[in-house]
Amino acid sequence: MSEPTYTVLNPATEQPIAEIPMASVDDVDEAVARANAAFPAWRDVAPGDRARLLRRFARRIDEEIEALAQLEVANSGHPIGSARWEAGNARDLFEYYAGAPERLTGHQIPVPGGIDITFKEPVGVVGVIAPWNFPMPIAAWGVAPALAAGNTVILKPAENTPLTALRLAELALEAGIAPDVFQVLPGTGPLAGSRLVEHRGVAKIVFTGSTRVGREIAAKAASRIIPVTLELGGKSANIVFADADLEQAAAAAPGAVFDNAGQDCCARSRILVQRTVYDRFLELLEPAVKAIRVGDPTQESTDMGPLISAAQRERVRSYVPADAPIAFRGDAPDGPGFWYPPTVLAPVHRASRIAAEEIFGPVVAVMPFEDEADAIELANATSYGLSGSVWTRDIGCALRTVRAVRAGNLSVNSNSSVRYWTPFGGYKESGLGRELGPDALDAFTETKNVFIAH
Ligand code: NAD
Repeated sequence: MSEPTYTVLNPATEQPIAEIPMASVDDVDEAVARANAAFPAWRDVAPGDRARLLRRFARRIDEEIEALAQLEVANSGHPIGSARWEAGNARDLFEYYAGAPERLTGHQIPVPGGIDITFKEPVGVVGVIAPWNFPMPIAAWGVAPALAAGNTVILKPAENTPLTALRLAELALEAGIAPDVFQVLPGTGPLAGSRLVEHRGVAKIVFTGSTRVGREIAAKAASRIIPVTLELGGKSANIVFADADLEQAAAAAPGAVFDNAGQDCCARSRILVQRTVYDRFLELLEPAVKAIRVGDPTQESTDMGPLISAAQRERVRSYVPADAPIAFRGDAPDGPGFWYPPTVLAPVHRASRIAAEEIFGPVVAVMPFEDEADAIELANATSYGLSGSVWTRDIGCALRTVRAVRAGNLSVNSNSSVRYWTPFGGYKESGLGRELGPDALDAFTETKNVFIAH
């Protein structure tokens, strides 16, 4: 018997848009059995043919970009421009990893007494557990390299954002990828997600979501001795030194934290500004924040949509009590929709909760620092380590600072974090392993060594 259905809401209108059955334990078991049955044939598809199928999948996504983007606008409340980028990012991932099957080479290693060669083999069935904040890109980051390396995949989207994932599964079939090679299984975390992690037929888990659930999954994976990739939360620092191009840094800062209404693991949710330019920076930041157009995500002109749910808005509100140091904030519509205005808290006390915890909403904490050593200490004063930015014209200061900040993705005079060509992932409690780029394939392969005696 199936579990109950989940009512998917449009977060901009609070109207129901779909009723999706949630997978039962039996449904998960059946999906895993199918994925294992499909594995040998997919593993043995000639590399060039697997590459062609992934390219066809990318082409189908490309042909459907507008429809996928509209679906994401309705399901996630992302502004249409962002949603198009997200669908395009999923396409790019399948296109990029289509180059992998023909390049998954091993080594021939010189040894005495014979010949030694290594093979890169797929691990088997990969479970990808995705969050709601970027349903298409984050799904593709796991699914594309896993399929390219010859694994079969079960994707469990977040319960509240399953619609684009379900459409991607249809597009894969239309591209000619055999049934059960890539399955999408909507379900709840505690039931379907847990079962996927615990199932003996699943060989690897890719999880993106909260540190709390990531820790639970890591413990279960450890007891089963299977590999996991974890992409968890962040509290990333945007460090602005006094010699930086302040206009440029201030103009870029709102996008770095309010993009996707702050529901971004890479959000630069702490802006650290050298004390000598602190007031000037806030003066420049204020008009940039007030210019953010918050509203109907179907409109091309909208910069920021609603939060994903009422629960998420409550969580954000809990971080901004009546006595919070609100320096200034942007607008947000009234009425239906889970709206919350872009909010700048300054000056934020270093020891406060808002300086340390991930809010996952459009709230940024601005803090002054004294010098380079102080900036580094403050940037590292969090249990997270995902991203960060350094703004300065001094190349020495930039290099020393990016090397000293304990985070996986740093940028200088830019807030860029995610580029599909380069590795992405966290230090400390922000995660384990790396996604994207050429190295991600290692996470989806076993290395087999074979010795042949002379
Ligand atoms: P969550 O961890 O509750 O859920 C993420 C996914 O895990 C969903 O698919 C959910 O169904 C599933 N899940 C939940 N409990 C599970 C369990 N016991 N076993 C297996 N799967 C389970 O996250 P959330 O609260 O919905 O999302 C917000 C959080 O996710 C934020 O705090 C943010 O830090 C984090 N996040 C991180 C990244 C990243 O790339 N690092 C991206 C998005 C979200």
